[in-house]
Amino acid sequence: MNQPAEQPARVGDLSHFIDGKLQAGRSGRFGDVFNPSEGSVSARVPLAGTDEVDAAVASARAAFPAWAATSPLRRARVLFKFKELLDANADDIARAIAREHGKVVSDARGEVTRGIEVVEFACGIPHLLKGEYTEQIGSGIDSWSLRQPLGVCAGITPFNFPAMVPLWMFPVALACGNSFVLKPSERDPSASLILARLLREAGLPDGVFTVLHGDKVAVDALLQHPDVAAISFVGSTPIAEYVYRTATASGKRVQALGGAKNHLVVMPDADLEQAVDALIGAAYGSAGERCMAISVAVAVGPIADPLVAALTERARSLKVGASEDPASEMGPLVTRTHLDKVSGYVARGVDEQATLLVDGRGLRVAGHESGFFIGGCLFDHVTPDMIIYREEIFGPVLCVVRVKDMESALALVNNHEFGNGVSLFTRDGGTAREFSSRAQIGMVGINIPIPVPMAFHSFGGWKRSLFGDHCVYGPEGVRFYSHLKTVSSRWPSGRTGGAEFVMPTMK
Ligand code: NAD
Repeated sequence: MNQPAEQPARVGDLSHFIDGKLQAGRSGRFGDVFNPSEGSVSARVPLAGTDEVDAAVASARAAFPAWAATSPLRRARVLFKFKELLDANADDIARAIAREHGKVVSDARGEVTRGIEVVEFACGIPHLLKGEYTEQIGSGIDSWSLRQPLGVCAGITPFNFPAMVPLWMFPVALACGNSFVLKPSERDPSASLILARLLREAGLPDGVFTVLHGDKVAVDALLQHPDVAAISFVGSTPIAEYVYRTATASGKRVQALGGAKNHLVVMPDADLEQAVDALIGAAYGSAGERCMAISVAVAVGPIADPLVAALTERARSLKVGASEDPASEMGPLVTRTHLDKVSGYVARGVDEQATLLVDGRGLRVAGHESGFFIGGCLFDHVTPDMIIYREEIFGPVLCVVRVKDMESALALVNNHEFGNGVSLFTRDGGTAREFSSRAQIGMVGINIPIPVPMAFHSFGGWKRSLFGDHCVYGPEGVRFYSHLKTVSSRWPSGRTGGAEFVMPTMK
């Protein structure tokens, strides 16, 4: 290619990536993309209209038959090459993420690594597409099962992991033989264009992978498009539920992952230092803008006072700064609107009479005075009826809830509407076993703060954190992106005995 895929069509304007080419937006509608550390607009992203959605889906549909007919091994070889290119370009992708999202570069690099792991998994998918074979299920009859691709699959992804969440989806979809239309978050769209360029360089045929930027207009058109077979969504719970209802109503297969309120329970016997390290990293890393961030610390019994004292000291000394400053532990929030929303929750917590021990509002970072910064915030004496406990804040706000014993901690966790992740810190194996068995939560960590499953397992929450039957990536991803077919076959040499009018049974 002469031009890198992420090259803007006009300075300051990003493009769609359709049919293997950059294509300027035609709708005349754009969204602003910010550099959150500077508080300034860095680019405009085109917001697709329905005719652009039609063009993108038509291109993906046209590319599908040949890609589906390509042998699984050849498809995997494209992904092997893609993995090599991702490794070589990981730092560039991380910097592109940091510039638009605001997370620190080292954290963005970690996100890219977790995404690459899914590509590594997808390289082995030929093994998982193998079916099962039974000889002689009846006289002269053999039967086998196989998995076939669905067609055009679409992915709609959130701002908080602009590379990793798309990589949760499309490597698996492509390895299974589908074509894929990605509608990334309009808040940090550049990483997806780098991924598109690298896929093309890896040898993926044009049209098999598309990046279509947009907002609700594009999403709605994808959800109802007759040529889209499946929708993978990751984002907030209200939109996940809307996507699930709308797309299933138009006959599509849907997995829609939503929001979270992840608890970390600290038992009285826990190693205090380890628990504090875990809480500080998981609550304030990426400024709390992670679906697996810990936003509630559940202090059980007498550990509460020392835990709160240690958390207060550490939250006050967090190094908050520009995302590209290697000294920063935490960068800014993604937009001013989001900063206002998070600050509003802190004000709400004060109104609700929670004890605000550390207040990060109004933080100014020297040299970056217009950036969307907020320091770490810590509330004590939070109760389950408070809005700051019930709702997902998605910022660097940690709420401490004090309970008397493990039963109360478990009840708290299980009564919350979200069920994404939970973590327990203890030295007692029996407590850990009991807790992990009874938690109504999709992903459980024992002395692990952010228990994100590896690529060869699968990721997904329970309750209102996941709508649909399938988790993402891993074996669940293969099941989601493929149809099961079972063939029964006979090669008779003479007459079969004439028509049979009773339910066939094997003899
Ligand atoms: P969001 O729901 O605002 O947006 C997600 C996607 O939906 C974006 O592509 C956006 O363009 C689109 N969208 C937004 N509003 C829409 C509407 N009204 N109609 C149709 N489409 C719409 O989420 P976000 O703010 O980008 O991301 C943060 C959220 O994502 C948090 O709630 C976080 O917990 C969640 N998340 C969950 C997981 C998980 O695995 N469960 C992972 C990452 C993020």
